[in-house]
Amino acid sequence: MNSTPIRNTTAHWRQVDAAHHLHPFTDHRELAAAGGSRVITSARGVTLTDSEGQNLIDGMAGLWCVNVGYGREELAKVAYEQMLELPYYNTFFGTATPSSIELSERLAELTPKGLSRVFYGVSGSDANDTIVRAVRHFWNLEGKPGKKTFISREYAYHGSTMAAVSLCGMSAMHGQADLPLPGFEHIMPPYWYDYGGDQTPEDFGIEAAQALEDKILELGADNVAAFIGEPIQGAGAVIVPPETYWPEIQRICRKHDILLIADEVICGFGRTGEWFGSGYYGIEPDFMTLAKGITSGYLPLSAVMVGDRVAKTLHDKGGEFYHGYTYSGHPVCCAVALKNIEIMERENLVERTREETGPHLAALLDGLRDHPLVGEVRSLGLLGAVEMVKDKATRTHFDKPGKAGTICRDHCFANGGVMRAVRDCMVLSPPLTISKQELDTLIGILRKSLDRTAEDLGVI
Ligand SMILES: *Cc1c(COP(=O)(O)O)cnc(C)c1O
Repeated sequence: MNSTPIRNTTAHWRQVDAAHHLHPFTDHRELAAAGGSRVITSARGVTLTDSEGQNLIDGMAGLWCVNVGYGREELAKVAYEQMLELPYYNTFFGTATPSSIELSERLAELTPKGLSRVFYGVSGSDANDTIVRAVRHFWNLEGKPGKKTFISREYAYHGSTMAAVSLCGMSAMHGQADLPLPGFEHIMPPYWYDYGGDQTPEDFGIEAAQALEDKILELGADNVAAFIGEPIQGAGAVIVPPETYWPEIQRICRKHDILLIADEVICGFGRTGEWFGSGYYGIEPDFMTLAKGITSGYLPLSAVMVGDRVAKTLHDKGGEFYHGYTYSGHPVCCAVALKNIEIMERENLVERTREETGPHLAALLDGLRDHPLVGEVRSLGLLGAVEMVKDKATRTHFDKPGKAGTICRDHCFANGGVMRAVRDCMVLSPPLTISKQELDTLIGILRKSLDRTAEDLGVI
């Protein structure tokens, strides 16, 4: 019999975690074989500390969300004060709270023109569910009840609820729950490195957008409700589309009267060096999904920005929308979001990402191109990816996708940096407060880890 470890030690936490905690996106057999969870106990700035006292640079800003970095007293204080003043009240049945009202105005000002109403939730997943319901309701009200099908893309990530997974383009997720639901279709992603062959990125961008029109014509525009896309596909491994892609998507949606949904859960709040990815690409969406960076992850909050066309129909003809969450417009989360936005503005985090740290990251990643494992690097702002391949000349992937990624990720951890592996891509999304020096350190860790990975795979 094992003796019971002392309480509040790593060994104790791991034992209890293994016995009682079901983790998201985790193979529990693998986790047990690896010795259990890494327990993160504190964080400051861009640095995490685990229960063994090891420091790690957080190259992922938690899960793409801690945009203003860790340890912000101002955010803790505003939450504390709001909890004392009014810890909770709902926004159903004709009530509202000051912070939910003020945040709505702030978001309407910050987001692109034409998006002036906000519906709140607590996660990106529920926000996308809200959009699915609102879009179908809208087309019913418009007298076009046939327009019900959503078109999304392979490698898209839109969340984990039934409707959100149906929007996702991840076949492994679909397989486990007999999804997608009826009325969800997927087209090719604007993933030039994998799908572009000999074409220039510009030509390929047009071709990838044409896949949307082909799908609309196949289904009939009278049956298509909306197209959804992340400006840059984050969890799909930071797929940065060619510059020709979004203008063409916008044109096709307008031509066929298809609503356009920009899922900005990762791209929003400065990640790309603009407030929103839509701003960078000139997208004028009918809906925008916001979460993650909206509070820098300090509290859960999501927001659906609703465009004026849809808002007007819902307002004038919609009656009651039978939809809402207990925590829609939660006053503490909204107060934290307001303060988070204030910090981003005061510290010029968006401009800094666009003009200083983003270009610095791009230059550092560029310096990895000569590495024998690196097939492509891509980035915009503080969103980056390094794609490892078996053969650079022919862009041939490794036989077992994900193996190189997992090896490299583990080396990164051992060398003091957190990066995520998606297939055999190393992806990066550090806090927007990261300094150039810290970026140098992070990419130094990545280069060292790529070297070790190459040794492990016998490539060098
Ligand atoms: C994370 C994410 C979601 C889901 O958000 P949750 O808060 O995890 O439900 C949706 N869309 C995108 C683009 C995301 O990255």
